[in-house]
Amino acid sequence: DITAERHVYDVVVVGAGGAGLRAAIAAHDAGARTAIVCKSLLGKAHTVMAEGGIAAALGNLYPEDNWKVHFRDTMRGGKMLNNWRMAQIHAQEAPARVLELEEWGALFDRTKDGLISQRDFGGHRYARLAHVGDRTGLEMIRTLQQRAVALGIDVFMECTITEILKDGDRVAGAFGYWRESGRFIVFEAPAVVLATGGIGKSFKVTSNSWEYTGDGHAMALRAGAKLINMEFVQFHPTGMVWPPSVRGILVTESVRGDGGVLRNSEGRRFMFDYIPEFFKAETADTEEEADRWYTDKKNNRRPPELLPRDEVARAINAEIKAGRGSPHGGVYLDIASRRDPEFIKRRLPSMYHQFKELADVDITKEPMEIGPTCHYVMGGVEVDADTGAAAVPGLFAAGEVAGGMHGSNRLGGNSLSDLLVFGRRAGLNAAYHAIRTKNNRPRVRDDQVRAAGETVLAPFTSKGGENPYDVQKDLQEVMHNLVGIIRKADELEQALEDIAKLRERAAKVSVHGGRQYNPGWHLAIDLRNMLTVSECIARAALTRTESRGGHTRDDYPMADPEWGTKNIVLSQVDGRIDLAIQPLPEMPDELKALFE
Ligand code: FAD
Repeated sequence: DITAERHVYDVVVVGAGGAGLRAAIAAHDAGARTAIVCKSLLGKAHTVMAEGGIAAALGNLYPEDNWKVHFRDTMRGGKMLNNWRMAQIHAQEAPARVLELEEWGALFDRTKDGLISQRDFGGHRYARLAHVGDRTGLEMIRTLQQRAVALGIDVFMECTITEILKDGDRVAGAFGYWRESGRFIVFEAPAVVLATGGIGKSFKVTSNSWEYTGDGHAMALRAGAKLINMEFVQFHPTGMVWPPSVRGILVTESVRGDGGVLRNSEGRRFMFDYIPEFFKAETADTEEEADRWYTDKKNNRRPPELLPRDEVARAINAEIKAGRGSPHGGVYLDIASRRDPEFIKRRLPSMYHQFKELADVDITKEPMEIGPTCHYVMGGVEVDADTGAAAVPGLFAAGEVAGGMHGSNRLGGNSLSDLLVFGRRAGLNAAYHAIRTKNNRPRVRDDQVRAAGETVLAPFTSKGGENPYDVQKDLQEVMHNLVGIIRKADELEQALEDIAKLRERAAKVSVHGGRQYNPGWHLAIDLRNMLTVSECIARAALTRTESRGGHTRDDYPMADPEWGTKNIVLSQVDGRIDLAIQPLPEMPDELKALFE
């Protein structure tokens, strides 16, 4: 039965994380009839898990901080592959977005003078992350959600969008199903904002939850938009490694920002052995200087534990490979021997409880065992820097699902600010787009609705007999083993062959039972997206014959200046993934001068 209920809006926002909520508020404020659709319950989006904080050059602790320094840090962290215009807008607008959040009721931690407190994070020159203990994302979601609900924006929860609908070249709406009943739903809308977050569930060890199957990435591709930066996947250096049931769960970078250090099985503080040339001038080279930095940042350089995430993740990986890892295949993160228990419990309350409850480890007394975990995708929908518009008229993207802002590597804290800055811009411009179509609204075509419904129902009639969970598990192994932190050509080629075979298996997935809350069926639907995104990552990773940021090639260990000027762009043509190489937008001279 492919009948579907219908709803008419101006703007439909897919996703209720920070980007989606901020976009919806902006679209609503611009006068658009707006709906938010999300796969899980409101308040469950990934953003709620964000711990460390929101990066914004407020200059509360260091008056010398300003958008130019933040811009420079962001570009350097991304190894200059960022879309410069996005990095500029982000650095310029983040402070206003944080203050606005405060105005809307967010309660940030404070300095002694009553200003919003800011904490240190890797790659940021000055203490810059506005935070609420280690529960910043929760406060951000709470604030935005309260506002969205107070404004009367309609929310469709536990509702998964599976396809963008089009009228000719233009967006006409979105098709989806209610997770509980399995019934179909069609949104008629001239503007759709994708804010669906990340792709982590394609990897075996990840900090991401079940929702992050790259739906937005894959739907955008199918609708005719392009993806960039897909070879760049961020492996966060510190995920839990033990016990197995919690493997991958994030241990916030704030542990290191607040004094935690990394040690190998020999007790050596090994990060001093891994300071790359690029960051030598600003990184301490003795333990004494590194330790002095926590109290005197003006006269000392930063500890190497606070190098950008890609550097730290690779160093940990190398130590484990060299046989100097901890018993469960990680290394040690030690704050217990460095800070008193009161400080740890006050600054890192969630971490304290997380380890106590999940691993029976008291982090005020013992070191944590940690290792790299797939955390964030830099790659995403190619958008116009100023408006968040994708190549398809009426399609917008913001937050983790959008590409360009973070280049080859994202700095911690720069995601939450990205969500606010570009969520707002995408929402506003989606509303403007909708208003412009007032007398010429696109129409949802019945044949597209029928086709979308049939695709989703196929696993019920398939006689292939494949189990969706088996295919997912095998895909996660392939991505973990062959497309992980360290990559090489033959392994990536193998991965692509394996993914092609998994695609054949996915086409034969059969599910049992009915349409009412059937998780096996839901996974069967998501698999298609996971496979598309995985293929994009592997294809781009094979093509980029250099190492840069979140992409490390064992067979090409150095950054190649030629590649430093190019983006890999993926599109979908006749169901096949197409790859092209395109020059980066040129940075204007006045911004170039900041790097001299
Ligand atoms: P999300 O918050 O991921 O929300 C995605 C939304 O899309 C959800 O509502 C989901 O239900 C919905 N959705 C997805 N697919 C569909 C579909 N098909 N149909 C309908 N709805 C769909 N960043 C920082 O800057 N600072 C930090 O301190 C920080 N800490 C982090 C800690 C953890 C544990 C993790 C995992 C990430 C952290 N990050 C941090 C990264 C940051 O939290 C995320 O990148 C960011 O929250 C993503 O926000 P978003 O709005 O793009 O999407």
